[in-house]
Amino acid sequence: MIDFLPLSKIISENKSFLLTTHVNPDADAIGSELAFYRMLKMLGKTARIVNHSETPYNLVFLDTDSVVEKYEKEKHDMLFYESDVIVALDFNSPQRVASMQIAFENSRKLKICIDHHPHPSPFADHFFVDSSYSATGHVLYDFIKKTNIVEPGKSIAVPIYAAIMTDTGSFRFDRTTSDLHRLIAELIDLGTDPTYIYDKIYDESRYSKIRLLGECLSTIRMTPSKEIAYIVITQQALKISGADEADIEGFVNYCLSIKGVKMGLLFFELENGLKVSLRSKGSIPVNLLAEEFGGGGHLNASGIRVSDVKLNDFISVILEAAERYIK
Ligand code: 5GP
Ligand code: MN
Repeated sequence: MIDFLPLSKIISENKSFLLTTHVNPDADAIGSELAFYRMLKMLGKTARIVNHSETPYNLVFLDTDSVVEKYEKEKHDMLFYESDVIVALDFNSPQRVASMQIAFENSRKLKICIDHHPHPSPFADHFFVDSSYSATGHVLYDFIKKTNIVEPGKSIAVPIYAAIMTDTGSFRFDRTTSDLHRLIAELIDLGTDPTYIYDKIYDESRYSKIRLLGECLSTIRMTPSKEIAYIVITQQALKISGADEADIEGFVNYCLSIKGVKMGLLFFELENGLKVSLRSKGSIPVNLLAEEFGGGGHLNASGIRVSDVKLNDFISVILEAAERYIK
């Protein structure tokens, strides 16, 4: 249970807000920013949304007024020093804001974190965090409902719906409860169109993405135990397909769709480094595996980003460590 009163107080006592989220934002990240932004606007506050990454192409439809900005040092650093409050949404350690980390950490303004990941690092002044929530958007909607801070309409319901739909794997992961479905019913009553949102996010893929998916599925590998499946995407494969980083969202889930597989890993070679997506079934804590390598996330869905490592060497190291979690 989160005590939301301090959050209401912070909002009422301050005027200008800077909202941000993690690198490679998903629909929970962008949806939470837009819902919080629209709530602040209804309250007559000043707000800006600034992110390290550009909004992925399949989420741009959520940003109907084009208010999400991509970080540029010269243009945006002053916001970290002039805004009354900095709001960290859907992440729990400062490294997750990538190129904005220095400005973010150097700022002495009030920082609040609204999130649903376990084990936050102590970077904010106030944490409104509970990992029993399905999504950060879910935390926000609960806040709005419990405090009656605004009367939510469609402009808030739609991004919250997108946040929850994607973070629950379209209502199938373990935090999909009857209470959550009742909340979703409210969002639909407020004007959300589930078919439209699913279509925009998942069924308007670029051809290049589907070609890359085909390549990944045909080269998927298994460890000798057949309990870990993994996909490797090199920069070369990415370039040949014409796809980009946003396109690989969701690929790792195919690993878990194989019977008997308990952990799925996706190794994605970056321009300078490597990103690993980790997924598991049941009680296998991939967040602890990710934390061993400086990453983090949820029990069943986590990530790691490292720089200056060799792809193949790192794959062996991770697979070896992963075997310990299967046993
Ligand atoms: P994905 O694999 O979809 O990028 O991320 C899965 C989950 O792990 C998300 O909840 C995300 O916030 C978290 N995550 C992904 N990458 C990192 C990382 O580099 N560090 C931390 N702490 N969490 C991550
Ligand atoms: Mn989330």
